[in-house]
This record gives sequence, C-alpha cells and structure tokens, in this order.
Amino acid sequence: MADSGETLNPIAALHVFTAHLEARARAGQTRIWMSDEARTALKEICRMKPGRMVFPARPAASLPASQPVSAIPKSVPSPPPAAPGRVEPLPPLQETKLPPAAPPLSKRDRLAAVTARAELAPAARALGTLRGTMVFATGDPDAAVMFIGEAPGADEEKQGEPFVGVAGQLLTKVIKAMGLERSSVYITNICKFRPIVDDDRPQGSRNRQPTGVEMQSCMEFVLEEISIVRPKVIVALGRTAAEGLLQRDVAVTRLRGQWLEFQGTPLMVTFHPSYLKRKEDEGEAVAFAEKRKHWEDMLMVMERLEMSITEKQRGYFLPKS
Ligand code: URA
Repeated sequence: MADSGETLNPIAALHVFTAHLEARARAGQTRIWMSDEARTALKEICRMKPGRMVFPARPAASLPASQPVSAIPKSVPSPPPAAPGRVEPLPPLQETKLPPAAPPLSKRDRLAAVTARAELAPAARALGTLRGTMVFATGDPDAAVMFIGEAPGADEEKQGEPFVGVAGQLLTKVIKAMGLERSSVYITNICKFRPIVDDDRPQGSRNRQPTGVEMQSCMEFVLEEISIVRPKVIVALGRTAAEGLLQRDVAVTRLRGQWLEFQGTPLMVTFHPSYLKRKEDEGEAVAFAEKRKHWEDMLMVMERLEMSITEKQRGYFLPKS
C-alpha cells in the first residue's frame, strides 16, 4: 500500500487529528468540513487491525487549505502507538467571523409586526363576539402622547383607521387645538375589533362598547404598542378605555384632572369625544362646561409635555363674560 515510500502511523495520525478537533472545539467551532478523501481515509483507519496500521501518506498539497485533516503530518516516526512522537505544529486556527449584526428594527417595523399579529389575534377571534376586521392604530411611532379609545366603530371599520367618525373628528379638533397634528400623535384603541351587536336586527352602523373580556383579548397588543412607542403621556379616552387599562371600575368624573400612572407612564383619564358630542344635545352651556373640563385635562397634558401654551389656548371653553 505504501506507494510513495512515505508512511503515516495511523494511530499517531488519529492522535493529531483528535488534538486538532479538540483545539477547534475549545475555540468554539462545532462543525468541520472534510473532503470525501479524508472521510474515506478516516474510515479506513478505524477499520484497520493493529498489524496493518500503516497508511499511505497523501501529499498535503492535494487537500484544501481549510481542511482540518491537512494537519496530519506527512510522516510520523514509527510506533510505539501510545507515544505518537514529534508532531508538526498545528496550523493557526482560522478566526470564525460572525456575520455583521442586523440593524435594530425601527419602531415602525416593530409596530408593523404587532399589527400583523393583531390581525390573527386568536384570543379575540375565538370569542365570536367581535367582527372580523382588525383596526390597529394611526400616527407617529415616536409620538410623545398616545390617545387610547375603546374600539373601532362602523366608520373606523370601513376606513381601517381609529377615530375617523364623528367622535374622531372631535378628537382631531382637540389635537389641533393643542397645537399638534393628528399625524404627530399616536391614536389607538384598547380593543382592535368592532364589537358585534347581537340582536335580531342587522348591525348597520350601530356600535357598542367592548366588554372586559374583549378588551383583555387585545391587551397584549396595546401593551406592546406602549412599550414600542414609549409615549411620555397616555390619554385614556372615556371610562371603557380607562377601565381596560386600570382593570377596575372607573368614574371618569372622579378620576379626570389628575395624574395617574399606567405601568410607569403618566396617565390622564378624560372624557371620550362621543360623550362630549352627546352633551351637545343637552344645550350649549352643558356641552361647554364638559368640554372645558376635558380641555383642562388637555392643558395638563400639554404642561406635562412642556409645550408652550398661549393665553388663547388657556381660555378655550371658558364662559364668555
Ligand atoms: N370610538 C373609539 O373609542 N374608538 C374609535 O376608534 C372610534 C370611536
């Protein structure tokens, strides 16, 4: 078998190979590449009986440079097998380069991922009490203020955006009165699906407030939105949203006008724009008084955000003397 005249002691070769693998393992390498030729050689060594343990040397040049088996020396002095003798130094370990770290996902991308999960929302869909169209959020992922309403209604369901109906138009006016744009704040709902009104009539444009269970089924998404946007202030619009966040009964008239906290973020509970719209039916004076209270809550939000407030803004909805 020894056609080149040079021989390898297979046991010595195995020792060298094992040492080489151990060194690579210590360096964190978990896999090696071996040529077919090297595999066959290794199998042959493993099958050899002690008496036949002479193995033809292969010219190192015929093996790829990266191949660990190339560490096997061309010739090793003969037995004894237990003491393999002098071994050529191992080639330096090749540094394993990690691929460059992926850039961190933007807030917009992270919110898009939450939106995709909310679309599936197995817990919400399993209830069977919510309609099928998911309405997520709108606005700036970097917003300082996050408005949270209760659930989409017929208009929101049609347009796929929260607060676009009558109540939404009032909210947009309030945002503008604060000196902000709708696109510069973040607007979402505590329940991402329009609740079904289940009676013997077609639902039409009728809406209802989400139940505690319905809000709970979407809570994971709301929590993620808050943790991604990290607003400086959360505004809960109306009792339902406030109860969903605070997990307790809420009377907006008692809780509004003071700073609360939702998981470390300052929280202002205030009237829902639908409530303020309904108050318009009770006369201008009644509506004005409630809108003033709501506006005072918004002035507190502006102060908390260190926004400059004009005298004109301070005077909105004050009784004209
Ligand atoms: N009311 C809400 O609470 N949310 C909407 O998106 C619309 C109306």
